[in-house]
Amino acid sequence: MKILVLNCGSSSVKYQFLDMQDEKVLAKGKVERIGMDDAIFEYKGSAGQEIKEVTPILDHNVAVRKVLAALTDKEHGVISSPDEITAVGHRVVHGGEAFSGSVIIDHEVKRTLRALFDLAPLHNPPNLTGILAVEAALPGVPQCGTFDTAFHSTMPEVAYLYALPYAMYKRHKVRRYGFHGTSHRYVSERAMQLMGPRPNLKLITCHLGNGSSLAAVMDGKSVDTSMGFTPLEGMIMGTRSGDVDPGVFPYIMSREEISMAEISSMLNKHSGLLGISGISSDMRQIEEEMENGNPRAKLAFDMLEYRLRKYIGAYAAAMNGVDGIVFTGGIGENSPVLREKVLRNLSFLGITLDEVANLDRARGERRISGPDSKVEVWVIPTNEELVIARDTRDLVLQMQQGKDQREPDLVGTTAD
Ligand code: AMP
Repeated sequence: MKILVLNCGSSSVKYQFLDMQDEKVLAKGKVERIGMDDAIFEYKGSAGQEIKEVTPILDHNVAVRKVLAALTDKEHGVISSPDEITAVGHRVVHGGEAFSGSVIIDHEVKRTLRALFDLAPLHNPPNLTGILAVEAALPGVPQCGTFDTAFHSTMPEVAYLYALPYAMYKRHKVRRYGFHGTSHRYVSERAMQLMGPRPNLKLITCHLGNGSSLAAVMDGKSVDTSMGFTPLEGMIMGTRSGDVDPGVFPYIMSREEISMAEISSMLNKHSGLLGISGISSDMRQIEEEMENGNPRAKLAFDMLEYRLRKYIGAYAAAMNGVDGIVFTGGIGENSPVLREKVLRNLSFLGITLDEVANLDRARGERRISGPDSKVEVWVIPTNEELVIARDTRDLVLQMQQGKDQREPDLVGTTAD
């Protein structure tokens, strides 16, 4: 079974094409600047084939057709016909309270996705656009939606409610939803395999990238997470502020005479590492500048480490203990300096560090805590596409089995 996984943004499509027999990635790439005359199309096949083009790409329909053309291209392709694509899996950002797991996309699911546009106005509309583009290009091919929020649907009320008037939840569904769920799910499942079966295993998963969030995962279920109603809450991120006293917003708005849209842009695009350092949202640059002695870069790094440490402490308290901490995402996987600092500052939890393993990037997935550490600490590269592809495969198999089971009845009821 071969599955195409799509992550559709407002002006981009990222894709991976997997053979589920051995879960091998046959091809992957991205389309950027959709809607522009100088859109970028990138494709890499597993045998080293490459396409890179700057070309007008009008919309998502054209983008999806270009992906299909590359996959079936005589010279660079990995299949001879689109018929070889069994199903398409989509990353969908917001499932609201409607979706607690992945689903086959049908008319009803599309209707619900539309109803959720208000909750994720930047993300859900392009996700649906991608679904419709695939429907047009590959009619009849089953599509599956995997939601960033779904893994966190197990959070208890005490964790997901805000202390606002209860009517705000009832009337407007204002609550913590959490995001990065597919990543937290992948790394927590992987950690459970690596750490071996234990009852009530308590994990803290730290997805640290341009966007960052932590999750408290008990017995395989998310019980709390740092992103909230939107992906703005919680950790200090590349350009997002994370937690800020909400009382600050009307104050800044009146002092700076700026609008709601401007403060939202400040919080989402001009804060975080970029806002503090005044240099960059990119952790590599922050670390470089910190080494060069730049005090604002050091401040940004230290604030991020401090916020991370506070959340780890909070989630250890929320679960009344912690057995494992997992680092993932661009920063989580690649910044030994941050991991070392935060782990040294958490020595009260009985954590010790294996310095060699911490620095040994080449090993990818690895345990970085010392043998005597009371808490196991792991680096686990995330793989959201694989989760989406596996869910898509499982749902398609279930659908096919359901059809097979109904088959004899259908035969029996035919008129002749
Ligand atoms: P992501 O959003 O998961 O792709 O992560 C992007 C973030 O990872 C950016 O802030 C990068 O600077 C950071 N990152 C990638 N490689 C490294 C590295 N070697 N050291 C520190 N940060 C890194």
